[in-house]
Amino acid sequence: MRLSRYFLPVLKENPSEAQIVSHRLMLRAGMIKQSAAGIYSWLPLGFKVLRKIETIVHEEQQRAGHIPMLMPTLQSADLWKESGRFDAYGPEMLRIKDRQDRDMLYGPTNEEMITDIFRSHVGSYKDLPMTLYHIQWKFRDEVRPRFGVMRGREFLMKDGYTFDLTKEDALHAYNRHLVTYLRSYERMGLQAIPMRADSGPIGGDDTHEFLVLAETGESEVFYDSQITELKFGDREIDYDSVDQCQAVMEEFTSRYARTDETHDAALFAEVPAERQRSARGIEVGQIFYFGTKYSEPMGATVQGPDGKPVPVHMGSHGIGVSRLLGAIIEASHDDKGIIWPEGVTPFHVGIVNLKQGDDQADAACDALYASLQALGLDPLYDDTKERAGGKFATMDLIGLPWRITVGPRGLKNGVVELTSRRTGESEEMTPEAAVEKIA
Ligand code: ATP
Ligand code: MG
Ligand code: MG
Ligand code: MG
Repeated sequence: MRLSRYFLPVLKENPSEAQIVSHRLMLRAGMIKQSAAGIYSWLPLGFKVLRKIETIVHEEQQRAGHIPMLMPTLQSADLWKESGRFDAYGPEMLRIKDRQDRDMLYGPTNEEMITDIFRSHVGSYKDLPMTLYHIQWKFRDEVRPRFGVMRGREFLMKDGYTFDLTKEDALHAYNRHLVTYLRSYERMGLQAIPMRADSGPIGGDDTHEFLVLAETGESEVFYDSQITELKFGDREIDYDSVDQCQAVMEEFTSRYARTDETHDAALFAEVPAERQRSARGIEVGQIFYFGTKYSEPMGATVQGPDGKPVPVHMGSHGIGVSRLLGAIIEASHDDKGIIWPEGVTPFHVGIVNLKQGDDQADAACDALYASLQALGLDPLYDDTKERAGGKFATMDLIGLPWRITVGPRGLKNGVVELTSRRTGESEEMTPEAAVEKIA
């Protein structure tokens, strides 16, 4: 992309409405624009990162055999009346009436709808196990929408629903999701720690939240520092293997890690004092096994091996796709701007032409641009007439991992300058060497 033909409305001044760094940087980098409290337009740069995060989530879900689909944002209230949640959900649910005076709502989540789809079409235990998921906009009329996309009212969520014949099978689905989540977050350059969470008034269910440690996080967390040394890495895993998924689950949840809702001071005291940590965290996902909570009242049964109907065991598993942009920036920035992890960066490299209009500099930039694209990379070429200082500031603000600076002086010696956004280190080299290093 050539910057002169792109839409990147960066702000020079710090917007006063932003209280935390990720919100400030997303506004300044021209990624989002607020449309109403907690509702945002995704401008081209923000949209690009959102799509990258979504793609990672899709890839990791499908790697585990989970099936993508799409349910609507607007739902009829009927199913929610059936499950009893229409009244129970409270003011966070946006309720709408259509012209026939029918109760509608903008879905805050999709348990009811997916259970209805399941009961309409699946009848036998032989069709199980099954995991269906979608990535769709949700609406929750939060009391305090704030921190930009971190606590929006309209937000993008991946929610997956598992259907199994037995509790053991459902717990395998739960563990399998834990593995897919660990892989997804790591690909986004994030460490998200599974922490035992509160399953609410029902109790007895299994649930973990995934938290990214950050001072601006809304949750208070307590953990054994050993947990931060764990990495999933690039290990191979067979998602059908109960033992393998179980082993990962045990590895990542055996040390103390809880949010304030489930924190147990006596248990925490058993962690060696030098490893006890209390901090703040951002909830970027949650996995939940809830058994037959919806299948029973809504009649989602399958015929078991003995021919008798059994309510299916279910779980729901969410990832805060749009919140992740904020979480990634909270975890990766400096005083000049964002520092995108390679896995989610909107462009791979920025090209800065120090003397736009100079034949030699222009030709060198065009050649670089073409060879980067030929390698499947996505460069952002600042071909505007702005002065060098301004171009550097914009590149630092939008945080691409690499910058190639091209100017007449270097070109005389056949070199350009390659700068790493993360380390700030610059090196002179031939354009070919720069391309090779990035690829
Ligand atoms: P929170 O505790 O932050 O209100 P939640 O527990 O209500 O979140 P879940 O129902 O677990 O949210 O939804 C799954 C994921 O969706 C959450 O882990 C979070 O990452 C994301 N999410 C929830 N609410 C919002 C919101 N208002 N804005 C952006 N993302 C959200
Ligand atoms: Mg909430
Ligand atoms: Mg929560
Ligand atoms: Mg949650």
